[in-house]
Amino acid sequence: MSFTRISEIGEFGLIDRLSALIKPTESSLSTLKKGIGDDCAVIALPNGKLQVISTDLLIEQIHFDLLTTPLEHLGAKAISVNVSDICAMNANPLYATISIGLSNNISVEMIEQIYKGAANVAKQYGIAIVGGDTSASITGLVISVAIVGEVDADKITYRSGAKQGDLICVTGDIGRSFAGLKVLMRERQTMLDTFAENPEMDKSTYKADLSDYQKVIEKHLLPKARVDAVKFFHETGIVPTSMIDISDGVGSELKHLCRNSQTGALIEESKLPILSETREVSDEFEDDATTYALFGGEDYELLFTISPNDFDTLSRFKDVHVIGKMLHPNDGIKLRDLFGSDIDLTKTSGFEHFTEEEFFEDDNDTHDHNGHSHNGHDPNGDDTDDEDDIWGERKN
Ligand code: ADP
Ligand code: MG
Repeated sequence: MSFTRISEIGEFGLIDRLSALIKPTESSLSTLKKGIGDDCAVIALPNGKLQVISTDLLIEQIHFDLLTTPLEHLGAKAISVNVSDICAMNANPLYATISIGLSNNISVEMIEQIYKGAANVAKQYGIAIVGGDTSASITGLVISVAIVGEVDADKITYRSGAKQGDLICVTGDIGRSFAGLKVLMRERQTMLDTFAENPEMDKSTYKADLSDYQKVIEKHLLPKARVDAVKFFHETGIVPTSMIDISDGVGSELKHLCRNSQTGALIEESKLPILSETREVSDEFEDDATTYALFGGEDYELLFTISPNDFDTLSRFKDVHVIGKMLHPNDGIKLRDLFGSDIDLTKTSGFEHFTEEEFFEDDNDTHDHNGHSHNGHDPNGDDTDDEDDIWGERKN
């Protein structure tokens, strides 16, 4: 048996290879509307509706750090990121299961905190948590949520379906979660330094002052799935022509929409919804807020396209921005920057697990707890690792 390193083919290459091994059977084909390749799998129900199914994994030291993540928030986030995939199909979430892998530094009370957070947010979404699985873990805390939802067949929204001329829209604001992560990682380092310098210190007395950064930190720790946008679509009858949720960053998600819809796209830097709080953080770290917005990820907003005919109706939803337009596939996928230059986004990357960098030894423990391999791709498209790149902790 040959040994191909996962990093050689990347996360998406791996999924492609696995999907070849789990091709749907003849008998499932009549009801399976979509298998691998969208935010959820889609199955036709006997009552004419469609069922949507998804699952997402959160792993300690990959997706979160217990030093900077309150457990209730972690439970809530595990549910919200799954609900977000249901929203991306324009569907309503119904039931979820929670599976946990527990290392021996986790107490019963800590697990209860996680479940309080999960239960709380599940109630807000109107979903029921109906089971799960429990196991020991030797590699830290693992939380895996599976979720199902439902949608009328005429409202289902896939990543494919966008047409040339459709408007590209995004809910809320983008880049804020990454700004929150930057602040939390800096705080984590300060905390570790303080403990190292004061070995006798009672760690529970450590107080961080993050009051200036509440808005960005809250977005990172407690993202909310955009069930309100889905409700608006259902009420007004707008069916987006394509949709995806933003887990890896608009730059990467837009490429998924374009590839699946066979379109090109042009988005405009001046139209990207970036909050002043996000810009303040990117300024502080001497980074570019646009890079946070395009490649930061974990905003869990919805990126979708609509027919221009739906624009007037859409504008009744206050928390949405039109950021560009779908084009002919030969036009490529571009960002028009503030100076009017078009930057090729196909040469830049969002976060993808298992790229080479993910496997580099890192003495400084600057691991990214986001599960993101910080490729440091420059939005200017030259794809070189220069010293100023914002994910610059990890150097080749
Ligand atoms: P999302 O970011 O929306 O959660 P992913 O990028 O994780 O989506 O996954 C893309 C697609 O690949 C989805 O359809 C998902 O079901 C599928 N997928 C991911 N990992 C696996 C796996 N290990 N086995 C089978 N399918 C997978
Ligand atoms: Mg998704």
